[in-house]
Amino acid sequence: MKITLNPDEKVVKIVKEGLKKTGGYCPCRRERTPDNICMCKEFKEQIADPDFEGFCHCMLYFKERNGD
Ligand code: SF4
Repeated sequence: MKITLNPDEKVVKIVKEGLKKTGGYCPCRRERTPDNICMCKEFKEQIADPDFEGFCHCMLYFKERNGD
């Protein structure tokens, strides 16, 4: 399992700027709850899910599944 940044630097820049503005809360969610502090609960659960491969909701991170 590997977590990498989106290879699209433009997306990374936009999401990181958003995170700076929110003070660490997910920029693509309205609720400022502890679950939405980056890395958010949803992405942590996706990381823990052996079947999940893909981007986090904001597309900042990509989770690569192990080849099996
Ligand atoms: S992991 Fe992705 S979706 Fe979750 S808070 Fe961070 S940028 Fe947003």
